[in-house]
Amino acid sequence: MVSASTICPEGLLAGLHLYFRRSVPDESEPDISELGLNDAEMPGIRCPICKWRPLRSSKWMCADSGPPEFFYDACGTEWNTFETRGLCPTCMHQWAWTSCLSCWGWSRHEDWYEDE
Ligand SMILES: [Zn+2]
Ligand SMILES: [Zn+2]
Repeated sequence: MVSASTICPEGLLAGLHLYFRRSVPDESEPDISELGLNDAEMPGIRCPICKWRPLRSSKWMCADSGPPEFFYDACGTEWNTFETRGLCPTCMHQWAWTSCLSCWGWSRHEDWYEDE
């Protein structure tokens, strides 16, 4: 006599989900004051479309781009475009447009700078 029933207590399965809860110990966070130096928001800069603010660690790539930039001789450099006001440090291409790393919309580079 073969019984095909498998032992699968639903109570145990439900209990498993508890192990997937995020358990982030608040006490052992890395020193934020030190991190802040490298990963701070860049003051006065935000996406004109979605208001996303780039971090100092944010990176753009000098990559072939269609509209609106129309640049097809890109060098592949990754850098923070707001540290050079849109100038690629390798091939010296002056990017007139900057894409948002959050909404991927293109805006004129100068439009990213907030008016005082
Ligand atoms: Zn955006
Ligand atoms: Zn370049």
